[in-house]
Amino acid sequence: MKIAFIGLGHMGGPMALNLHRAGRTLRAFDLSAAAMQPLAEAGVPMAASAADAVAGAEVVISMLPASRHVQALYLGEAGAPGLLAHIGSGALVIDSSTIAAASARKVAQAGAERGVAVVDAPVSGGTAGARAGTLTFMVGGAADHVERARPVLAQMGANIFHAGSSGAGQTAKMCNNMLLGVLMIGTSEALALGVANGLDPAVLSDIMRRSSGGNWALEKYNPYPGVMEAAPASNHYAGGFTTDLMLKDLGLAQDNAVSTGASTPLGALARSLYAAHSLAGRGALDFSSILQLLQSR
Ligand code: NAD
Repeated sequence: MKIAFIGLGHMGGPMALNLHRAGRTLRAFDLSAAAMQPLAEAGVPMAASAADAVAGAEVVISMLPASRHVQALYLGEAGAPGLLAHIGSGALVIDSSTIAAASARKVAQAGAERGVAVVDAPVSGGTAGARAGTLTFMVGGAADHVERARPVLAQMGANIFHAGSSGAGQTAKMCNNMLLGVLMIGTSEALALGVANGLDPAVLSDIMRRSSGGNWALEKYNPYPGVMEAAPASNHYAGGFTTDLMLKDLGLAQDNAVSTGASTPLGALARSLYAAHSLAGRGALDFSSILQLLQSR
């Protein structure tokens, strides 16, 4: 089976590498030469363009930043045809980017009109989960399409959930990331308060991790520099999930809350805090750097 992989950034790069290591026949592409380089060095065949990558592919996987990138790629822009025109009828598209559920449904509808099956399959687990092949996939689409995707997803992740029909994977991801954004702020706030009172952040982290405040940030992604060697906080907040991508996800949740009439006060406040952090010039840092906004000077 031939697989095309488009978007080789922080997440897509290690995901594609796992498929390559599992023995899949891949053709990969990214607009950025710097993103392609480490994969090319690892022996993954590179394509000259997205259209070149999907030629003859039975499965197409994409991992792009936001809705506008995914819509432009598959549906086209400025009069140019999208990638769906180049993908063979009968192929399966798996979009793992985090985008609006409405955008995912639009791409799936356009795919269906051309005989191309499309599932939305956003992920959770961060760059460490992408490298380790332990991601959680939240998949939206018809059951038979999801079953076709499952063996490929299983080579990049440890948990695969069928959330519901087209767009449902994105809805689940939106809810999860709103919770993550809120809990990273709460965790940072508690750590900053403890340190301002003379506590050692590593000791306080350990105490809260084993107490009722325990959560994913304390377990896997501590926002305090030096507490967790593998966390972006210990690498100057580089190489993880950027503040601007978290801001995008919290924006998706707020747009959705407005359209459904839901009350999400903590999600709204979290979006505002990440926006202030981004405006202060920290949009490209990992989102756990929100700690810096909350630390006493
Ligand atoms: P990234 O910015 O590191 O990578 C995106 C890549 O897509 C870039 O290399 C960019 O050049 C490429 N790209 C954009 N448009 C393209 C096009 N038309 N053709 C080919 N390549 C194109 O982002 P990331 O951190 O890898 O995140 C990707 C998606 O995964 C986002 O939607 C994000 O919200 C989601 N996500 C990220 C994480 C994380 O920890 N980084 C975790 C879960 C989900």
